[in-house]
Amino acid sequence: MLKDQDRIFTNLYGMHDRTLAGAKARGHWDGTAKIIQNGRDWVIDNMKASGLRGRGGAGFPTGLKWSFMPKESDGRPAYLVVNADESEPGTCKDREIMRHDPHTLIEGCLIASFAMNAHTCYIYIRGEYIREREALQAAIDEAYDAGLLGKNAAGSGWDFDLFLHHGAGAYICGEETALLESLEGKKGMPRMKPPFPAGAGLYGCPTTVNNVESIAVVPTILRRGAEWFSSFGNPNNAGTKIFGISGHVNNPCVVEEAMSISFEELIEKHCGGIRGGWDNLLAVIPGGSSVPCVRGEDMRDAVMDFDELRKVGSSLGTAAVIVMDKSVDPIKAIWRLSKFYKHESCGQCTPCREGTGWMMRVMDRLVKGEAEIEEIDMLFDVTKQVEGHTICALGDAAAWPIQGLIKNFREEIEDRIKAQKTGRMGAMAAE
Ligand code: SF4
Repeated sequence: MLKDQDRIFTNLYGMHDRTLAGAKARGHWDGTAKIIQNGRDWVIDNMKASGLRGRGGAGFPTGLKWSFMPKESDGRPAYLVVNADESEPGTCKDREIMRHDPHTLIEGCLIASFAMNAHTCYIYIRGEYIREREALQAAIDEAYDAGLLGKNAAGSGWDFDLFLHHGAGAYICGEETALLESLEGKKGMPRMKPPFPAGAGLYGCPTTVNNVESIAVVPTILRRGAEWFSSFGNPNNAGTKIFGISGHVNNPCVVEEAMSISFEELIEKHCGGIRGGWDNLLAVIPGGSSVPCVRGEDMRDAVMDFDELRKVGSSLGTAAVIVMDKSVDPIKAIWRLSKFYKHESCGQCTPCREGTGWMMRVMDRLVKGEAEIEEIDMLFDVTKQVEGHTICALGDAAAWPIQGLIKNFREEIEDRIKAQKTGRMGAMAAE
């Protein structure tokens, strides 16, 4: 279990002072100018050495992403944009950073922007996060008043402005290019890639989009050293990570832990176990609603990191762990996600616009058992035709939960169809 002295977020639960004075007392904003004066290459090299992989879901190495930004400006400004949209169902980690430990993020924005030659950074916060916006804006104002932002930010010699932009509450604006469109004042619709944002992003200028947690961990990594950070977790999966565990555990919580902790340890140490005991565990969605679910018995020994979760057919995503016990109808649970993705599709590309609706309508019928057995394979085929054939990852996000359901719960789906045909549905519902 991660020791308290190794936690980056020391006010995740809002038990302490979240103002600048409190943040400084907990070690934030300590030697920020010195870190910056080590130079751009030093910062990027250390981020690469730390092994940090992006915490927004895709797990792309953060230092490497930063190195894609042009070293010299061609006259265009560069931007850092922080993705604080956090709309993936089940995910509620960044909000704890923003409302309780906002200075970790603000200091991270300064250092990361410097490393990418950006004098301006925007934080795009989810429309529904009203209190988080207030807390973060108050912290930004405080940082300006204390000279930590603005001209010669924190005495580093780097001029830096930080703006907080409030979204209007659309899931698709968490996709990085849709987020940029929205920030520019347009409809939040994903862009075709290439060009990638590092070449032409916000206002056509070089831009890096990073998740809140990825940026908020940067100052502590650079203060304590890349080696310290990479000492946690398995190789290629380094660091500490915030997990958000919801659903049928005794104490749902958000907790910072070492990467590569086992699922069982995570649940037993921090969540008081599974409701009704381990035999009552039905399924787990280990990384936010878009990753495939895993059967409970396969999940117990699973290791919570990017590479290991692939072995059980899923992925770490945002580390939003959704636990379902045997009171859950798995078909209905995944149907609900299908309905969500259908609703959130921006409609720009055909496989997603039509496919999400098609998949949801078949799921509607599977919940009731009003389908033919062959339709299970047809549905699987459709998910494969959506997956990888769309402009953005929403198509995949809609396809994967259904694929996980069919792979893991085919018997249950077939049983329901058979029960419907033989008129045993009433008896099943009573079970
Ligand atoms: Fe829009 Fe869906 Fe296409 Fe993404 S995959 S661009 S959400 S239609």
